[in-house]
Amino acid sequence: MANVTLKNISKIYKGGVRAVNNISLEIKDREFVVLVGPSGCGKSTTLRMIAGLEAISEGEIFIDNILVNDVPAKNRDIAMVFQNYALYPHMTVYENLAFGLKLRRYPRREIERRVHEAAEILGLSLDMLQRRPKELSGGERQRVAVGRAIVRKPKVFLFDEPLSNLDAKLRVQMRMELQKLHNRLQSTMIYVTHDQIEALTLGDRIVVMHKGIVQQVADPVSLYERPYNRFVGGFIGSPPMNFLKGTIMAENGDFYFYDKSIKLRILPHYYPRMSTYKGQPVLMGIRPEDIYDKIFAQDARPEFTITATVDVVEPMGAEIFLYLTSGNNNFVVRVSNQDTAAMNQDLQVVFDMSKAHFFDPQTGVTIF
Ligand code: ADP
Repeated sequence: MANVTLKNISKIYKGGVRAVNNISLEIKDREFVVLVGPSGCGKSTTLRMIAGLEAISEGEIFIDNILVNDVPAKNRDIAMVFQNYALYPHMTVYENLAFGLKLRRYPRREIERRVHEAAEILGLSLDMLQRRPKELSGGERQRVAVGRAIVRKPKVFLFDEPLSNLDAKLRVQMRMELQKLHNRLQSTMIYVTHDQIEALTLGDRIVVMHKGIVQQVADPVSLYERPYNRFVGGFIGSPPMNFLKGTIMAENGDFYFYDKSIKLRILPHYYPRMSTYKGQPVLMGIRPEDIYDKIFAQDARPEFTITATVDVVEPMGAEIFLYLTSGNNNFVVRVSNQDTAAMNQDLQVVFDMSKAHFFDPQTGVTIF
């Protein structure tokens, strides 16, 4: 059990690439923290610096309040699970699980005990322990890779995209198994993924990264409901948040979001910052589930309703995604599968303006 602290961590690779830029983070004992962001944003580099596989260019890393910058990986009491499993092909599953403990000269009985305990936790049968990795399915191999970390009883588990090589169905199953594992082991876990769904489902807290910089650190609901900037709003959620371009217009003491065919009244709790943006361009962010087909809207007030043209209808089973255009803006709406909107039709849609976000178009940062 351990807490992990990153203080102003940076990684500058040869040639001057700043892969990780001044990250500070406090990961609490037993917390499940997910680092998420697009490919190349510096997630793996951060994880590898925590593991001791990559030298730290600037800053300090503490594990259990002990500075580990100069502690070699093998002495950090950390276990890492990789995307490609990294199993030894010539060894049986049992030998793969036992190998790390043998190297550390654990007594044979203790090795046996720990291997069987890990196999039990992960549902690996006795028969499976005698097979070689190539005789296992992808999901089973990934379980063995996790097992190799479990037998070590490390202070901290690190996962680097561990589910990326599995098919979609297996990924969902392994995701649930990892949740159960965290609940059972009560260990600190740091998990890297580019998949925002994985991040939302697994993380107690999520660290969103972009271009080596932390954009926001928050629990899944806060991240979804209150994105700090345009990047987070667009990265978390599927389909992503809509961003509409327009200006802030003042009329008879009220404020409106305005662009050509769009005029939507802004709710009073947004007003304090609106006067600064009067007449200025802004981006309005709104999630696809916060816009309704007027036919299904409970309280369709005209000041929250606009007309849009249906470009594409995408049935998804339980719901339908409607891709719409109004003036210069395109956006997507999630409606129930009972909606009969058709391509090229003009549709009245109602915006839940209590769910609207406003971003500065220059900085991308939320206005509130
Ligand atoms: P992620 O895990 O988010 O995909 P990485 O941490 O692997 O991102 O990489 C971050 C950035 O650092 C990328 O631009 C990548 O090209 C660069 N990078 C990674 N490893 C090296 C290396 N060994 N030498 C130089 N640049 C690297």
